[in-house]
Amino acid sequence: MPIHEVSLIRPENLQTHEQLVVDGVDVSGHWSTFIQSRAITDYNEAMQDEIAALPGGENVHRCWQCGSCTNSCTVNAINPDFNPRYWIYLIRLGMESEILRDKEIIWQCVSCNKCTYACPRDVVPEGVMKALSHWMELKGHVPKSPSMVFDEVFSEQVFARGKIEEGRVMQRFFKRTGQDLRQPWLIEMVKRMLRHLPVTMLTKLGLATFVAPSTSGWSRARAAIEEYVHEQEHNRRRALGLDGLIEAARRDAGPAAAGEGARS
Ligand code: SF4
Ligand code: SF4
Repeated sequence: MPIHEVSLIRPENLQTHEQLVVDGVDVSGHWSTFIQSRAITDYNEAMQDEIAALPGGENVHRCWQCGSCTNSCTVNAINPDFNPRYWIYLIRLGMESEILRDKEIIWQCVSCNKCTYACPRDVVPEGVMKALSHWMELKGHVPKSPSMVFDEVFSEQVFARGKIEEGRVMQRFFKRTGQDLRQPWLIEMVKRMLRHLPVTMLTKLGLATFVAPSTSGWSRARAAIEEYVHEQEHNRRRALGLDGLIEAARRDAGPAAAGEGARS
């Protein structure tokens, strides 16, 4: 599978001679541009399977590198370095270190799903991007992203009560990500709600934030859902070879951390 985009060649791998004559022909400047050869030896042969084990990455093996995802991508239109086709190519080859060179931009996917609709092979590139971000976090290559923290806060509330209260989700999300709750946009949103929503609805919303009601009969469903989710998480960690590491970290951190980890 050849790479065609010139933009994918790292600037440090390009060599140009300001003054060069070859067989009497002046090839100075860009005429003498060479691509430095590289030998990559640290392949992760399990990488495609690791991505496929995470939600969204299941169809990564189907890609035939047509490039429709990158051509239609919202973020690629403003940043040519954002290239889902290329990252899928690297995943399939197991070129982990090469992917990690782009770890600062991979998270920028806005989940618009344009790539998913353009893909002729049903790869669901948006899902692969999510799986790749998740993979980088699980492997410790990047810190937990705000969207991962949001997912955790959201899921915890669903597990606990069978429903979510928006105010509570936002409060916890801001607290865990170290952000001030008094964001200008949030203050403006609350002002507008106070101006336009009926009093009964506002009272209901306010009460629900403080009282946090549960879905009736939720405790029976909760046990089954939690068991399923923990089983899935265990399978993913095992697929990524993380089980031993996580258990060791829990043992080192003591029983409190073990209980906390079971909810994440
Ligand atoms: S979902 Fe992500 S990768 Fe797909 S087109 Fe949108 S920004 Fe690009
Ligand atoms: S559009 Fe689909 S098949 Fe084409 S490169 Fe992207 S993921 Fe692969």
